[in-house]
Amino acid sequence: MDTIICNHCDMVSTRPILRSGQVAKCPRCHRAFFKTNTLKANKMFALAITALILIIPAFTFPLMSIHLLGITEGANLLQGALMMIEGAPVVTFVILFCAVLVPTLLTLCIAYSSASIMLGKRPPLLGYVLKLTSSLIHWSMLDVYLISLLVSAVKITSDADVYFSSGLCFFVVLLIVNITLISEYSSTKYWKYLRNE
Ligand SMILES: [Zn+2]
Repeated sequence: MDTIICNHCDMVSTRPILRSGQVAKCPRCHRAFFKTNTLKANKMFALAITALILIIPAFTFPLMSIHLLGITEGANLLQGALMMIEGAPVVTFVILFCAVLVPTLLTLCIAYSSASIMLGKRPPLLGYVLKLTSSLIHWSMLDVYLISLLVSAVKITSDADVYFSSGLCFFVVLLIVNITLISEYSSTKYWKYLRNE
């Protein structure tokens, strides 16, 4: 019997037989856990490379500038996180982990596994990369960071002028590419390739 594990709640179920375009939902958590229409490896690789290119300006260009008492100061994601390291080290760690480290590593893992399929190779590291991808996929939280940033910006508009900068545009595009990568990633497809099924 062919089984499948839900990525969201780890429930083991029998693999359903689906027609093209159909999506199976987990009987316990009711989230999509198996689908037939996923992007091909070359498209996933192209998306991953796009995300890796976008990561550089999204993390290093200023996201927004604040004008207060005649002084205008801008900060990028990394500077913003490091500014809090003395007062709130846990917050700094969470931002750096969920909004910088995990999305970068996850994109690298998907690029590596997609490139392996494209080139028809099964490198020894591929199994570890697929396991790492399954662990990281739950911790990529660029969307949470963006919402927190926008809420903070709205809150301080009563005391200061807030100007959004170019880094925010790159960040939003990166977020869209990241969400597409995660929603189109099928761990089943990659594992089946590794096992030569
Ligand atoms: Zn589930």
